[in-house]
Amino acid sequence: MSETIFGKIIRGEIPCHKVYEDDQVLAFLDINPLSKGHTLVIPKEPAQTLDALSEESAAALGRVLPRICRAVIAVTGVKEYNVLENNGTGAHQAIAHVHFHIIPKPNRSEGLGIGWPMHALDHQEGAELAARLRTALA
Ligand code: 5GP
Repeated sequence: MSETIFGKIIRGEIPCHKVYEDDQVLAFLDINPLSKGHTLVIPKEPAQTLDALSEESAAALGRVLPRICRAVIAVTGVKEYNVLENNGTGAHQAIAHVHFHIIPKPNRSEGLGIGWPMHALDHQEGAELAARLRTALA
């Protein structure tokens, strides 16, 4: 995996506003926040996308994410928020190192805006797809 700016932040080579750190996880404020308190939570493991992350790092992230969310809520006073994790440039991932955004949603104009181009599930197609996914997971 190629070097990213988050690798440099993990190693302390460039500064960040650190929020949390343990052996496997680092959290810091986003440099271009969508709202006050916008925080990034990253594994120290240099995986590019979530599907490439080890179970150990995933577990470490999952363990602390709710706690960091609670701190963001407590400090901003904003109870509503989005947790976002982009994978691949086509899916809006700019930095090729796994990162979860915690983005407070204080009002309609600040925070994350989401396009949601939904359509009804075809249940026959859904049954086949779910079966294939179960096989892939077995
Ligand atoms: P992505 O689009 O990859 O999901 O989001 C990358 C995020 O990283 C963006 O929200 C961007 O503002 C943030 N970011 C990019 N470079 C830096 C940096 O050097 N420091 C910090 N703290 N955040 C960064």
